[in-house]
Amino acid sequence: MDTKAFKRSLQKSDNYHRKGFGHETEVMGTMNTEYQSSLIQQIRENNYQWQKGNVTIKLAEAFGFCWGVERAVAMAYETRQHFPQEKIWITNEIIHNPSVNQRLLEMNVGFIEVINGNKNFAVVEAGDVVILPAFGASVTEMQLLNDKGCTIVDTTCPWVSKVWNSVEKHKKKAHTSIIHGKYRHEETVATSSFAGTYLVVLNLKEAQYVCDYMLNGGNKEEFLDKFKNAHSQGFEPDKDLVRLGVANQTTMLKSETEQIGKLFETTLLKKYGPTELNEHFMSFNTICDATQERQDAMLNLVEEDVDLMVVIGGFNSSNTTHLQEISVEKSIPSYHIDSDQRILSGNKIQHKPLEKEIETKENWLPEGKIVVGVTSGASTPDKVVEEVIERIFEEKNARILV
Ligand code: SF4
Repeated sequence: MDTKAFKRSLQKSDNYHRKGFGHETEVMGTMNTEYQSSLIQQIRENNYQWQKGNVTIKLAEAFGFCWGVERAVAMAYETRQHFPQEKIWITNEIIHNPSVNQRLLEMNVGFIEVINGNKNFAVVEAGDVVILPAFGASVTEMQLLNDKGCTIVDTTCPWVSKVWNSVEKHKKKAHTSIIHGKYRHEETVATSSFAGTYLVVLNLKEAQYVCDYMLNGGNKEEFLDKFKNAHSQGFEPDKDLVRLGVANQTTMLKSETEQIGKLFETTLLKKYGPTELNEHFMSFNTICDATQERQDAMLNLVEEDVDLMVVIGGFNSSNTTHLQEISVEKSIPSYHIDSDQRILSGNKIQHKPLEKEIETKENWLPEGKIVVGVTSGASTPDKVVEEVIERIFEEKNARILV
């Protein structure tokens, strides 16, 4: 399918909306009440530190709701207001945050159910309004909804669209897109649907494996088995790794995306020489500013003298997990939680260690004076961060009065 032509025609359709509906001021007022926090504002103004009793909180200097997420949530609120009677659906969680998604459910916005790994679009009827989330939707989904005669409200973050444009450029030049991401993540599913030939690599280790294959050859079956589900149909490592472009899931670790890009560039340089490099390699900077700022702030925070770190965000939020990775790499006791309700009385916490299931840790708050580093992923409202901080104070018997 000519995905570019399809998108162009969809954007011209009267049933397609990618800007708000003129209710911004009202919606912003509601969102401020529901998601903003006066405590967090005070902490920001107090040089990102707050002390209560024997607990000092150190906040990362960039954290929480990013521009793209705030925009997507605002558009979803506006959609409800603009279409008060219509059935409204979202093709997925609008963002990876349980409290925001719960709020939308309360507003009678339905989430498309996943049955046996497939989304059940049978429930969507002509005339229904369907919201595409901040991390986008695959071209197949957009086409299906368009064919059904739905009104589409597209909240895809422009940073994500920028990546789609990059893979379109790779496709036009017959380059294979190497996508640094998680092949199951909705954003990467959407990005790969716009790509021609593609291969998704999760990390530097996988990228190194691919580059070794490019330089030295290897076992094709093993290669295809290792990347099953992570490549385009009919992918042939011996012929599809000759001309490459690099793209990324916008929430991956920035430094890793850069290293992967460099690794492929160097590999192609070794293989084809400097004069041929431009024929074989394309690269565009598609790392989102918000991801970068939050990761940079976390890199600064882990250099501070903190006893432990609390990382707040949905358990399926990729950017939150990467913040947790930065802390774990520094060997700081680090707890990834999605809300204050994970902090249980009796000095216990239910948290998700990296690449493991949720577990309960006892005595997680050490005795005496402690310094707790706090950050949150791009889908987490300040209100949730406030609630977590208040629970920490409460657990240490130092109730905060604001
Ligand atoms: S993290 Fe970046 S790409 Fe993702 S929604 Fe936010 S601004 Fe957009």
